[in-house]
Amino acid sequence: MSLLDTKVAVITGGSSGIGLATAKRFVAQGAYVYISGRRQSELDKAVAEIGGNVTAVQGDVASLSDLDRLFGAVKARHGRVDVLFANAGLVEHQKLGEITETHFDKTFNANVRGLLFTMQKALPLMQDGGAVILTGSIAGIKGLPAHGTYSASKAAVRSFARTWAAEFKDKGIRVNVISPGAIDTPIIDGQADTQEGADQLRANFAAATPLGRIGKAEEVADAALFLASSQSSFMTGAEIFVDGGIAQV
Ligand code: NAP
Repeated sequence: MSLLDTKVAVITGGSSGIGLATAKRFVAQGAYVYISGRRQSELDKAVAEIGGNVTAVQGDVASLSDLDRLFGAVKARHGRVDVLFANAGLVEHQKLGEITETHFDKTFNANVRGLLFTMQKALPLMQDGGAVILTGSIAGIKGLPAHGTYSASKAAVRSFARTWAAEFKDKGIRVNVISPGAIDTPIIDGQADTQEGADQLRANFAAATPLGRIGKAEEVADAALFLASSQSSFMTGAEIFVDGGIAQV
């Protein structure tokens, strides 16, 4: 028996990086997985990589009508959600003094508003005993220059988990957070203007991480699988750091 046999999982931001690695893990463990993201081209590639038991629904988590389409597709085919991985998110660097409305709105629309309404729209389909996993970040507990907006957005994610764990305890819906450190995904490339800049960023993160390297998306997927499965049956409202120790020591 696999860990997620017969389970239906929804993964936002499932076309790339952590979400894609987790979709592969979940399917390998018996789940049927729905993935979402804004770029159809990346979703198509992801579906081909995952290979089966997956449906992609294009959409922006910041758009309530897109979320309706996502959960409408889930309802039409499976009628329920056992596991929700609210993972879609983005990072942009701006220091206080230079912060634009566009930067603030883009960050909070995806990371906070999008995550909140993903959860709210999933709720009618969530099964008693279901598992919700929210993607936070070590940035939520660190003071990192130019990360003020992003860090605050991830601190909000951590806060939601506490409230929702309390609100849904009677339905046995567990809500936990995974907070990655530096993980080797395309999000790092998006933080540099050139390939050399991205390589330097990866090297800087590796040097700052006690385990001496940056993490792999698959290592975060392992933690997501744990939180999605009954192996974490006595955990709710918690935060798991998958960070090579960068925010711990
Ligand atoms: P990634 O490879 O860039 O993946 C991000 C995923 O989210 C993509 O599928 C992207 O697809 C989707 N996405 C972004 N904005 C979206 C929106 N508004 N609506 C729907 N989908 C959206 O990055 P990743 O590293 O896997 O990041 C996943 C999560 O981990 C994020 O929440 C991030 O903040 C968090 N995190 C990452 C790291 C790290 O070092 N990698 C560290 C800490 C936390 P589209 O662009 O096509 O929409």
